[in-house]
Amino acid sequence: MKKTPTGTSVGVDDPYAHAGVCDHVTDDGRCRFAFEFPGHDPTFSSERRAADFRCPVADDEWAWADCPHYRFRETERECTRCGLDERRDAHEDGRPLLEEHHLAYADDRDLGHEITVYLCRWCHAKVHNSWARVGDDANPGPEALAAREERRSKELSELSFASAAERFDPGADDA
Ligand SMILES: [Zn+2]
Ligand SMILES: [Zn+2]
Repeated sequence: MKKTPTGTSVGVDDPYAHAGVCDHVTDDGRCRFAFEFPGHDPTFSSERRAADFRCPVADDEWAWADCPHYRFRETERECTRCGLDERRDAHEDGRPLLEEHHLAYADDRDLGHEITVYLCRWCHAKVHNSWARVGDDANPGPEALAAREERRSKELSELSFASAAERFDPGADDA
C-alpha cells in the first residue's frame, strides 16, 4: 500500500487506478497545459506544439503516469469511499464534510503528480489511520449521516426564513 510522506496510508495500491482524465486534456484530446503555459516547461510545450498539441495519452502512446504534467483533481463532490455528498453553501463557514485526499506523492514512480479525490471527514481519518481503503464498498457511518442531516435542516430553515422575509418585506409594494 502506498504511504504519505509522514507514513500514514494513502489507502490505495495504485493511485493511477483511481485517477481520471487529466485536468489539462481538452475534449478533442489536446494538451491545454502545453498551450496555455508554454513557459512552465518549454521543452515539453515545444514537443507538444510540434505534434499539434495532441495529448500522447489520448493517442494511446503514453499512460497518465508517463506524463510529467498529468494532474487529476476530482470535481464531483462526494466521498469516493462511502458516497456521502455535500452541497457547499457560499456562506457556509463550518468545517466541510468532504476533504481533499491526495493519492500520489513525489517519489521515484509518481513524478509528484497531483491526484486527489474527495473523502468525507470520517472516511478520510479511517483511511489515514486504519485499515480502511479508498476502494472499500462502504456506506456513510452514523456520524457522517447525522452531520449531513444537521446541515440539511439548517439549510431548510435558512431557506424558509428567507422566503418569509420576502413575503413581509415592507418595501416590496413600492415598485
Ligand atoms: Zn465517506
Ligand atoms: Zn488524505
